[in-house]
Amino acid sequence: MKNHNTADDLVRIAPNALVERDTFGERAHDLQCLIDNAIQCPETIAISCRRVHHIAEGLRMDMPALLAPFGPSPLLSVQPSSPDRAWGGPPGFHDVGMNLAIMEQKLRDGRVANLNGRYFAYILRFATDVARLDPEPFEEAAAGADPVDAALKAFEAEMGEPFPQDPGQQLADVLSSMATAWEGVTARLLRQSQGSPIDAGLGLLIQDHRWSLGNADFGAGTCRLYDRATGSERINGRFRSGSALEDSDALDHAQDGKEMDLETTFKDAFPDLFANIADILRTGRTVFKDDRDYSFIAANDHVLIVDARKANRGVQAQINNAVSLVEAGIISKDEALLRIEPKSLAELLHPQISLDGEQTPVFGGVAASPGGACGRVVFSAQSVQAYASQDIPCVLVRRETGPEDIRGMHLAKAVVTERGGMTSHAAVIARGLGVPCITGAAEISISADGDSFRTQDGALFREGDVITVDGTNGDAYAGEVPLVPPEQDAGFQTFMSWADEIRDVGIRANADTPEDAALGLTLHADGIGLCRTEHMFFEPLRLNVMREMIFAESEVDRRTALEQLRPMQQSDFKDLFVTMDGLPVCIRLFDPPLHEFLPTDRAGCSNLAKSLGLSLTEVTKRIAAISEFNPMLGMRGVRLGIMHPEIYDMQVRAILEAAIEASSVVGKQIEPEIMIPLVASSLEVRLVKERIESVAAAVRIATGRDIRYRTGVLVETPRAALCANEIAEHVQILSFGTNDLTQMTFGLSRDDVGRFMKAYVQRGAISHDPFEMLDKTGVGELMLLGASRGREVNKDIVLAVCGEHGGDIDTIEFCRKAGFDYFSCSPFRVPIARLSAAQLAVRSP
Ligand code: PEP
Ligand code: MG
Repeated sequence: MKNHNTADDLVRIAPNALVERDTFGERAHDLQCLIDNAIQCPETIAISCRRVHHIAEGLRMDMPALLAPFGPSPLLSVQPSSPDRAWGGPPGFHDVGMNLAIMEQKLRDGRVANLNGRYFAYILRFATDVARLDPEPFEEAAAGADPVDAALKAFEAEMGEPFPQDPGQQLADVLSSMATAWEGVTARLLRQSQGSPIDAGLGLLIQDHRWSLGNADFGAGTCRLYDRATGSERINGRFRSGSALEDSDALDHAQDGKEMDLETTFKDAFPDLFANIADILRTGRTVFKDDRDYSFIAANDHVLIVDARKANRGVQAQINNAVSLVEAGIISKDEALLRIEPKSLAELLHPQISLDGEQTPVFGGVAASPGGACGRVVFSAQSVQAYASQDIPCVLVRRETGPEDIRGMHLAKAVVTERGGMTSHAAVIARGLGVPCITGAAEISISADGDSFRTQDGALFREGDVITVDGTNGDAYAGEVPLVPPEQDAGFQTFMSWADEIRDVGIRANADTPEDAALGLTLHADGIGLCRTEHMFFEPLRLNVMREMIFAESEVDRRTALEQLRPMQQSDFKDLFVTMDGLPVCIRLFDPPLHEFLPTDRAGCSNLAKSLGLSLTEVTKRIAAISEFNPMLGMRGVRLGIMHPEIYDMQVRAILEAAIEASSVVGKQIEPEIMIPLVASSLEVRLVKERIESVAAAVRIATGRDIRYRTGVLVETPRAALCANEIAEHVQILSFGTNDLTQMTFGLSRDDVGRFMKAYVQRGAISHDPFEMLDKTGVGELMLLGASRGREVNKDIVLAVCGEHGGDIDTIEFCRKAGFDYFSCSPFRVPIARLSAAQLAVRSP
């Protein structure tokens, strides 16, 4: 076995030493930064990642040389120091070097509390973690009259040799066990599953721990310069006198009487030490350009810093802290913007569930709409209404949702569907409503009667049972899990205004109703990028008229029904324009297949028969006649608009007249954007455009008012992307509908994908769910082609994304590079997209 120390693999943390993060790890590097700024730390030797790797392979270090800086009878703490703390590391080891000699000397002094207990705990830890012995004999020893003696005997009996008394041997064994644990299969797999490098290095720190053998004026504590809940500036922390404890969380939560609150009891008892800590915190803030969580020891009337960890705090506290660092001139606005993970803003927009580590999910699925909610399980929209009328919160559980569920979804606290994925009906509607939602919960099966469901583990949930849905992570829990309410304070508003100052692409909201639009505006959307007009027809009254229109035998009957719908749409559009007060509003003409508006069960058909004055047979026959084998590829979108042009005529007239009315209200000329869905060729565009123009001409003549509008195409078929040059000649906007474009490019149903996508990814057949994250290689390539072909013939054409990917930083980055102008997503994702866009502008202006 090799036995040597090499200078560049060992370093003493001392002023001007070179302690690079990649070589010695983050913890070592951070301590070195403090030392360089005259903040004192205990004597510390750092061992490089490379050396630790050799130790794992069997290298034995030169122990006398390693121990020399720590003097005779050393007592040590060994701590992990990986290059990125987020990669984790084995737990630190205290009291290395503890032996009978130290015990005897200190017990003679009689000044260290509970030394027997510490020695016992150390023997136990050494026996189980280092010597890999079973804990039972030691647990028995703990119950006896002299636990230390019994534990030493148990160790000798198990190992065939006495517990090591030599500090060098103890240290060598501890180093070796920590190094091997880090490189073991379990740790490697764990790292891989958490997205950390499987071959990540680990540095180790050997720190002097003898201070913990001092008298009662010695102690350990935690301190920080920010309030953990709000992020505002406040020195706080805990101190425990005579304690060797340096695990900050344990200390922060410890309740016993020896604890001192830093701001009150500690400050009064040790004003000089408190002033010392205040200086350290302020220096640390400039050294790290951040407020950290410090572990300190107070010894011999001065403070030594043992560790300076990155703060672990909620997003609101992170934002407020970043804002206060900018205001203190410590970091720039750009730096502050980069510090916040965009997705974490969801915490401030929705209530979140607060887990205490006790709960395990009962089932999971696609995290389709963020936020947490609890309620009673119900299986139909009618039951939701019944519960809601008594103010009882409920969770709607369905195989999948359709138009008739929308009222129930409005009233439900959360929605779960057995089928579906990130862009299925339930997901799109729930995100728009801000209702937490899990789709594709393939781990549950709803009973044939539809009045209960079972999880994979066999647990049965009936109507009325309480569950909690975590739409942020896609997990559901039995019973009620506490929720934390959302909050957006002044710091958030300031922070987001910095994001808006720098971002160079538009962020709009997908909003179907004036309420959605108002929400989008509150969240500072730059306009509406997609109004799915068909969602306006789901009110029961409108649904009936819609069904009359669908059942009309002739064009004349259809026009009569549409004339009833027109004033309703017109008033919604007007409200939308007025709400947005002149900001752009992009309205998509009717898109889904008509059968989506028809009932699917016998009771619904019979109600419909009654309201239309038809026989049940007639109704079922008509439904059968219009149903299609592949409705998503059938008579929908522009095809419906061409086959039944009176539908689009009605909508275009409603849009233009609403714009005229709203212009008078807001005192600005409103120029609506009219989008044609599911286009595959320029011929379709020309046909629809001609009709739009003739309706506009008619409205101009009828109102005598100037009308301006822009037309666009939703690029959501591969052919539209490929032929974007032909299409772009006729329109001003190309907005990529990435939900359908993904569906059609992969030939993968967006409504069924949740059933198998997770397993498909696990099998390595696809790298990720393309409905959650844009597939840049295939779908993205089509988008780039479409964008460049469109711009070739129409250099001013506006390029946008309005599928669900529009709120995702990856998509924004990809498309921003290709010169896209704006991105549109559900209102609650707007702040996330605004921050994402700002970060991209900071990183590559
Ligand atoms: C799309 O397909 O991406 C889109 C925006 O339209 P929808 O989700 O309504 O089909
Ligand atoms: Mg679409």
